[in-house]
Amino acid sequence: MKFFSFKNLSLRTRFLVAMGVVFIPLVAVGLGSAVFLQHTANALNQVVEQPVYKLQTTSRLQNQIRKAFALVKDFAGAPSYAIRSQFESDAKAVEEIFVEILAKPFLAPQEYALLNQARREWQDSVALTKLILTSAAPKTALYQLDQRANQIMFTLDQIYAAYYREIGAQRALNNEAQNRFLMILAAAIGFGLFSALIGAVWLARSVLVPLHEFEKGMTHFANDNLSYRLVLNNQDELGQLAREFNAMAERLMSNQHKLEELSVRDGLTGLYNRREFEKRLNEEVHRARRYDAAFTVLMLDIDHFKDVNDRYGHQTGDEALVTVADLIRLNVRPVDVTCRYGGEELAVILPETDANGARIVAERIRGNIADSLITTLQGYTIHVTVSIGLATFPRDGDSGTGLVSAADQALYAAKQDGRNLVRSY
Ligand code: GH3
Ligand code: MG
Ligand code: MG
Repeated sequence: MKFFSFKNLSLRTRFLVAMGVVFIPLVAVGLGSAVFLQHTANALNQVVEQPVYKLQTTSRLQNQIRKAFALVKDFAGAPSYAIRSQFESDAKAVEEIFVEILAKPFLAPQEYALLNQARREWQDSVALTKLILTSAAPKTALYQLDQRANQIMFTLDQIYAAYYREIGAQRALNNEAQNRFLMILAAAIGFGLFSALIGAVWLARSVLVPLHEFEKGMTHFANDNLSYRLVLNNQDELGQLAREFNAMAERLMSNQHKLEELSVRDGLTGLYNRREFEKRLNEEVHRARRYDAAFTVLMLDIDHFKDVNDRYGHQTGDEALVTVADLIRLNVRPVDVTCRYGGEELAVILPETDANGARIVAERIRGNIADSLITTLQGYTIHVTVSIGLATFPRDGDSGTGLVSAADQALYAAKQDGRNLVRSY
């Protein structure tokens, strides 16, 4: 059992689905990219902001420390209260910077350790500077201070190296995230294009296949094959169209059939007309020639029919003619061809029938008509008889016209011999 078929979707729905198939992945890719870019922009900001702060602060620290040590040297050259108090305020500033940066949560452990080390070295140096600034320190103290200052700068330089390593690692992480994003983006776009392709192919097929069937149907129609029916079970607009097309073909076929019947039949008796008789007769001649077979033509003429018309009128004559036609039809096989040759002359083609067989049929027809009484609408009861002449192919004629003229001569003989008789050529 089939629960769902795409064929049952309306074309409208199908177009919408196909558009969805194309657009939804693209919208997803767009939204995904926006979210990712927002996310990476934040991460990048952090990555940039923190190292900048660390670099700036550490550089401030170095400058401040250099400035403080320069004051100590100045003091050693020319001691003054102003220099000393300036040093004290600078030293305080250095300490504040240490406190500020060491409180930051984003320091790497190694950075934290190096900063603490620099701070301890600074604090040790401050003890030495106090000695220089308060009393006459030994000459070696200044030299020692230089050494210490170099040591602090060296430690702080090591911190720079740690910062750069950290920036490098962060950049590598970012690159990796970027590459991953590009891969996901490429996959999403690839998927989007693939589903768009599938959607387009499906849509095209679901429309083009039925159209091809229509085209086939039209070709059959154009070639006069009205019996062709479109094979399309879709429940959509195309299916509806196909059903209407098939219904139209049905009507056309039935009308054509009716027209064909009309064109080969006689309006009064319903028998085949003269033209059809001649066509069938020629076909039968060809067939009999090819298969070396026999067939017989009967020519019938109602006896003294003029008298019937004169006595009862033409309408009654017509009724009698129709009844005679019916009686003939009842006495022959379905394959026999019964025709109205003209006026009250009728003809029957008896395929595959030789003279002996035909005579039996002709006698049966003659006898039946002679034994019948015809009751007309006006209430008359009429009795008619027929004379019948028969000619057999190829014995009595080897062409249509030859056979008809032979049968006519036999009919004439039947009339001559007294009517209500059967005569062979
Ligand atoms: P017989 O054939 O025996 O010699 O005599 P008949 O009186 O039948 O003579 P004939 O065949 O010459 O005349 C044919 C008559 O049949 C003439 C015409 O009035 C009549 N007839 C021909 N066709 C029709 C028809 O369609 N309807 C009617 N009512 N009469 C017809
Ligand atoms: Mg006649
Ligand atoms: Mg007659």
